[in-house]
Amino acid sequence: MAIIDLHSHSNRSDGKESPTEVFEHAAAAGVNVLALTDHDTTTGWAEGAEAAARLGIGFVPGIEVTTRAKVRVGERDRFISVHMLAYLPDPQYKPLADELHDTVGSREIRAMGITDKLAKDFPITWDLVLEMLEDGATIGRPAIADALVKLGVVADRAEAFRGVLDKYGPYYIATDTTDTFDAIKLIRESGGVPIIAHPLTDVGANASRGDLPEEHFEKLIDAGLMGFEVYHREVPEVAREWLLMLARKHDLIHTGSSDYHGVHGKPNRLGENTTAPEMFERILAAGTGSKAIL
Ligand code: AMP
Ligand code: MN
Ligand code: MN
Ligand code: MN
Repeated sequence: MAIIDLHSHSNRSDGKESPTEVFEHAAAAGVNVLALTDHDTTTGWAEGAEAAARLGIGFVPGIEVTTRAKVRVGERDRFISVHMLAYLPDPQYKPLADELHDTVGSREIRAMGITDKLAKDFPITWDLVLEMLEDGATIGRPAIADALVKLGVVADRAEAFRGVLDKYGPYYIATDTTDTFDAIKLIRESGGVPIIAHPLTDVGANASRGDLPEEHFEKLIDAGLMGFEVYHREVPEVAREWLLMLARKHDLIHTGSSDYHGVHGKPNRLGENTTAPEMFERILAAGTGSKAIL
């Protein structure tokens, strides 16, 4: 059966390898179809598609769109970060392209803010952070982590994320970005297929059904959400059952993928989780904004 992996990153965002290298590693791992889904950018597509064609594997154009949703927790509204995968969107669709452009700008301002905070305690500079990044790549905390590794503050990205870059830590700043509902609408208008990336990664292994924000998900489904990434190393087993149940109830797509960031970017390995061919067929049938090359 074909190995279909629908989530990966190159150095056009926070992956460690060029789009060409990502597809070379995919071919070596026996992957048959790979989606390149860099954060908030499509600038890796052309190179990825060319490498895929040369290597004889399928290329799926995608984006991992940074969004945030307002959720009610008790008496208070809280913002949560939601990563939305968009498959086969039209990269020329201006309202979406403009929104992504704004997010990349917000990410930069936010990364500067985090770097400023860190500079009070560590010898980090903005120039050093930028040295960790390809020209024009979408910036994220991993570039700051790489700068801290370079300085010898931490051994690797994982240690940086466990410590100083943790979202509950003193240096954290959230990215000001697109509302999740607006992102779903824009992705659909662009001909893309919106699927929530790694949902519910924050619920513990011992979570109970009450921890499933079912109403919130159903509102997203009403707004045009088409599926969930269920099989992902960070989605707890208990949450997978709820997500599959929701997907069945609403006849949605469910996917599985690696979220590869390079051999040295994250432990995630190409093809470690895969998408069923019939689910992939549904994405191909629904996505009209750009074409997969198979
Ligand atoms: P940001 O988008 O700037 O909030 O940073 C989040 C990104 O950091 C995610 O997309 C992951 O790729 C990466 N990340 C999160 N946790 C880790 C970790 N423990 N090790 C390596 N990379 C991580
Ligand atoms: Mn990432
Ligand atoms: Mn993500
Ligand atoms: Mn990702």
